[in-house]
Amino acid sequence: MALQIVRNVCTACGDCEPVCPTKSITPWKGVYKIDADTCTECEGEFDAPQCLDVCMEDDCIIAA
Ligand code: SF4
Ligand code: SF4
Repeated sequence: MALQIVRNVCTACGDCEPVCPTKSITPWKGVYKIDADTCTECEGEFDAPQCLDVCMEDDCIIAA
């Protein structure tokens, strides 16, 4: 399971990048992307996906 960032909603603020415990979020084509191969949805580390918690944009980070 993984989350994904909706490219045309992401403002490229970068707030999600440092909070990801698996370092799955990286700059990509002017916004940010989540590596679906390494995103764990924060299972086993936090009660909720940390990127979702910090992202201020509605519907920016969604289930892949
Ligand atoms: S859900 Fe968790 S592991 Fe996946 S990208 Fe967001 S912060 Fe990283
Ligand atoms: S916190 Fe949201 S808007 Fe900011 S870079 Fe991450 S996905 Fe994009």
